[in-house]
Amino acid sequence: MNKIWVTRSSMPSYEEFIEKIRPLWETRWLTNMGTYHKELEVQLKAYLGVPCLSLMVNGHMALEMAIQAMNFPEGSEVITTPFTFVSTTHAIVRNRLTPVFCDINPDDYTIDADQIEGLITSDTVAIVPVHVYGNICDVEKIEKIAGRYGLKVIYDSCHAFGETYGGRGIGCYGDASVFSFHATKVFHTIEGGAVTFSDEALYKKLYNLKNFGIQGEELVVGVGANAKMNEFAAVMGLCNLPEVEKNILLRKERAETYLEMFQGVRGLQLPDFHRKDVKQNYGYFPVLCPDRNIRDQVYNNLRQQNIYSRKYFYPLTSRAACFAEKYANLPLHIAERISETVLVLPLYPELEYEDMERVVHIVRKTIDAEGVKA
Ligand SMILES: *Cc1c(COP(=O)(O)O)cnc(C)c1O
Repeated sequence: MNKIWVTRSSMPSYEEFIEKIRPLWETRWLTNMGTYHKELEVQLKAYLGVPCLSLMVNGHMALEMAIQAMNFPEGSEVITTPFTFVSTTHAIVRNRLTPVFCDINPDDYTIDADQIEGLITSDTVAIVPVHVYGNICDVEKIEKIAGRYGLKVIYDSCHAFGETYGGRGIGCYGDASVFSFHATKVFHTIEGGAVTFSDEALYKKLYNLKNFGIQGEELVVGVGANAKMNEFAAVMGLCNLPEVEKNILLRKERAETYLEMFQGVRGLQLPDFHRKDVKQNYGYFPVLCPDRNIRDQVYNNLRQQNIYSRKYFYPLTSRAACFAEKYANLPLHIAERISETVLVLPLYPELEYEDMERVVHIVRKTIDAEGVKA
């Protein structure tokens, strides 16, 4: 039986990709802000509806550099969510800042904005929220708090590519917003990422950070790293971008079919794709199981049938082995509960309806069986 992964990378036609990379054998300009890099920045700005954008080698470095560009004093505190990919927390810690974990909302799993103020100290410099599964954070409340206390807001928008809120591109919110173009995401460049922002001065800062601080052949103005996107990656992006809307529609059709198929499965909390003023990208299909034991059983039973769901995000980043000693005992009750019961089911544009039926059948059977036991 063929394996069903939680996602499957979208690919352009082979011929189209080959045709587009052919000139690279002439120019030999393979990286360092080449033609395709520049073209992709222009096209992404238009698609995302953002004023400024800087392409990066991946989403993680985009986040690290967006934070670094703010020049926070070492040891400052950053309020963030533990219910995310470890990259979010790593980007804070690798900038020599201290993550301060805030609990999440039980209905959309984003940071609980009502608890942010209680965590602010004289050392707080920023908030790093995550639009997890493409669920948009309470951007208004976060902006108000940030304004009141003079904090920067850097959104991890890696799950929210192409989404809009209130008709504005999601990358317009906060001081900066970060996207990942990893192969597993709604839009990808194999590996890649971007920072979006509205303060034009940030462009040069990010440019220096991603290109060794080099401003001219004999002029190095800053201690930058190397986080440039190469031309092959940019070509993959240019081929994939025109397909994104169609792919989001295919995802939407499948997500809505899942919702119908799951009707009447007891105790399973389904995702809500009809949030006010949000254009969704249908990147993920997270379900909450009645308890941890059932979640793990569903995961195992799917696996036995070659279906690979994922426990995104378990454990919480505050419980990652590298952080647990410091942060394991925080009162993150909702995040703990969601993390222990959540399961992300396969969802991608080419997912077959028969395979979705198999997924739903296994989930239903497991919950019914475990429910009887309980
Ligand atoms: C994918 C992802 C990242 C990291 O992006 P990469 O491109 O893999 O480096 C960071 N945060 C979240 C929420 C992600 O999903």
